[in-house]
Amino acid sequence: MNRILLVDDEPDIVRVLGISLRADGYQVRTASGGEEALAIFARETPELVITDIKMPGMNGIEVLREVKNINAETEVIIITGHGDIDSAIEALQYGASDFINKPVRDKQLAIALQRAQEKIHIKQQLREYTTSLEQKVAAATREIRRRSNFQGKLIRSSNDGIVATDEDLKIVIYNPGAERIFGYPHHSVVHRMQVQDLYTPQIADLIVTGVTQASGLQEFPWQETSILSENGDIIPVRFSGSILHEKGQKMGSVAFFQDLREIKRLERELLKAERLAAVGQTVAGLAHGLKNILHGLKGGSYLVDLGIKKDDTEKLKSGWDMIKRNIGRTSEMVMDLLTYSKEREPEFEDCFPNEIAAEVAALLAEKARESRVGIKKSLDPSIPQVSMDPRIIHTALLNLVTNAIDACLFDEDTGKEWQVVVATTLEDDNTIRFDVSDNGVGMSKNVRDRLFTSFFSTKGHRGTGLGLMVTRKLVEEHGGRIDVASSPGKGTTFTIHLPFEAAGEKKTTSRKIKKR
Ligand code: ADP
Ligand code: MG
Repeated sequence: MNRILLVDDEPDIVRVLGISLRADGYQVRTASGGEEALAIFARETPELVITDIKMPGMNGIEVLREVKNINAETEVIIITGHGDIDSAIEALQYGASDFINKPVRDKQLAIALQRAQEKIHIKQQLREYTTSLEQKVAAATREIRRRSNFQGKLIRSSNDGIVATDEDLKIVIYNPGAERIFGYPHHSVVHRMQVQDLYTPQIADLIVTGVTQASGLQEFPWQETSILSENGDIIPVRFSGSILHEKGQKMGSVAFFQDLREIKRLERELLKAERLAAVGQTVAGLAHGLKNILHGLKGGSYLVDLGIKKDDTEKLKSGWDMIKRNIGRTSEMVMDLLTYSKEREPEFEDCFPNEIAAEVAALLAEKARESRVGIKKSLDPSIPQVSMDPRIIHTALLNLVTNAIDACLFDEDTGKEWQVVVATTLEDDNTIRFDVSDNGVGMSKNVRDRLFTSFFSTKGHRGTGLGLMVTRKLVEEHGGRIDVASSPGKGTTFTIHLPFEAAGEKKTTSRKIKKR
């Protein structure tokens, strides 16, 4: 503060005080009466007014009231006559900041000025504080609004359906994404529907329990499910959600839905494309297999022709053997293809798995002997009569033992004593394990990775590449699984785990067929 308006009808006082105040560094304006003072005040709004109380015309109290009227912030010091306590009190009541007595002494004036200064200063600070507070509140409000707008936009523009409810399970947020999935228009859902009206019972239950019961789940991780749209379509969706809390109180729920229709459609198309590719591969493999067989048949018939022409029984015989072998392969291949192409439920009947294993070993004993391979059996005597599909066991073991003998035949390490072991084990109350091991060529990782694919064979014209694929299909249809362990040059073990039922229980249809 440095501008003062000094009002007194006595020119001497005005002059003396004016000099003193100016000497202290104030800008001083003077007036000799109330009217003049108010005119100056209105024009210049000084921070402080010092006015005599007794003046002709308008007195000091009136000046004080007018000044406070115009600007309540202005500090006013009243100069009273000596001992005029009543006027002083009246002045204070009207908001004067101080009063000083006549004759005005410098010390008294200095104290009054100091107090006025302080008041002005405090008021100023208060004003600044208030304005900055107001600014802060305004800024915070702007920020909150901005965020809420942003969140609103986010919710509106989200591709996912977002649906939120209040604690009474009434839907309060339903974004355009949700509109696209559920089909109901916004206006017929928000504040109109409850979760039970919009969600399937499965999802509604989760939300209702979560919101209303302490024991209910509070977070629902992504899961695939479906919803029922307005027009009755079942729409596949991914759903997740959570119960909303504020200060420990449940205040509603939010759920997110992703439309899976497009993804499902693409999946179906992909599957179709894959199937077509598989068909192409199969046909190519088939042609290759047939070509090999035709080769064999042609070779055989050439020998037969030669035998007839030259009347050579030896040639005739070996040609005929070749033809028979290839007829055998044709029928094997056709049977395998038929088995593979048809989905077939296993036919459970009472049987002794050990007997089947022994049968297979006996059946291939001759072939093994020709290849100088020994066949050993290691059959678990605790395996009882059980209900299984004996044809599946038979075919699977036949394929595995044939491969095992071949593996020895293809082994170039002639120093070995080749052996194939067929073993059975009662693995647990409902599984039997079959192991077929050999100490033949073994296989590389590359071969192991391709074992079960169609027409994969390392045996050239002697293999069809269907055996293992068919074996795995049968085993899986029987609810079992097949594993392989092998090391190149050392040998291979194939293991089949097959579930069984107690003997006497025929199980034909209830088992679920694994789809590939
Ligand atoms: P194929 O016997 O007609 O060749 P499979 O499907 O029975 O067809 O076998 C596929 C391939 O797996 C065989 O060509 C061979 O390379 C490999 N294989 C299968 N069993 C064995 C085994 N016991 N030891 C080494 N390799 C094996
Ligand atoms: Mg085979």
